[in-house]
This record gives sequence, structure tokens and C-alpha cells, in this order.
Amino acid sequence: MSELSDLYQEVILEHNKNPRNFREITDADRTADGNNPLCGDALRVYVSMEEDKVADVAFKGSGCAISKASASMMTQMVKGKTREEAEVLFDEFQRMVTGNLDIEQEENHLGKLKIFAGVLEFPARVKCASLSWHTLYAALNNETEISTE
Ligand code: ZN
Repeated sequence: MSELSDLYQEVILEHNKNPRNFREITDADRTADGNNPLCGDALRVYVSMEEDKVADVAFKGSGCAISKASASMMTQMVKGKTREEAEVLFDEFQRMVTGNLDIEQEENHLGKLKIFAGVLEFPARVKCASLSWHTLYAALNNETEISTE
């Protein structure tokens, strides 16, 4: 377990320092704002669709290292996916960080996102890790704002 923790820390720190897709999409088809008042994380997610595909996805905002790293990896994972595939990932991610998905035993598509299974040990951090996913889901469903409270 300590190996996973080391890897977890390393990946979080690296994405926090150098977040991927950290930019605005000025002509985005959909945007949504996500707030996690407990920690102070505030993100805006931008999505450009091409038919049913997430052609481009990006985020801006401020927050703790976990929320930022999670948003960074979320954009990497869903870019090029269909809306349905993105929503499956959202569901699997949410179940993983709340302890309702056994990532070793149950089929899933999480890949390198499995690293966030580590937040289970830190209940206060679950909302930080899932904020960008909730915000993406809101954007895909034409909602413009979400709060984790
Ligand atoms: Zn946070």
C-alpha cells in the first residue's frame, strides 16, 4: 500500500505543478462551474463537442493539489471519448473514491485514474478528487453550476 501512496503523491504533485489542458476554450459548446466550499476548490470546465464526441476539454480555476491534479487527469482521460464513455468514467470514478467499486475485482475503465483510490483513506479529500468529474458531468448535461455541498 505504501508503494501506491508514493506513486499517488508523485502523480498528484506532478500534475499540480504542470496541469494538462489548463486553459480556456473560448468557443466551448458547454461550460460549467464547480465549487467545493469545504476546501475552497473552484473550477470551470470547458467542453467542445463534435457530434457525440468530446473533441476538446479543458479547465481553469484554483484549488488544492488534489482537485487540480484530478481535473488535469480527467481532461486527459475524456478527450476523444463519446459522451456515454465519459459518463461511464464519471460513474466508475465516483464509485471508486466512495468505496463502491473494487478496482481490482470489478471491470472498469479507470486505467491510471486508479491512483485516486488513495483518497479513500482521506474522506475530506474525496470531494476534491471528484469535483472536476461532477463539473464535467454538469457540462455534458447542460447544467452550468454545481456545488459539492
Ligand atoms: Zn480541495
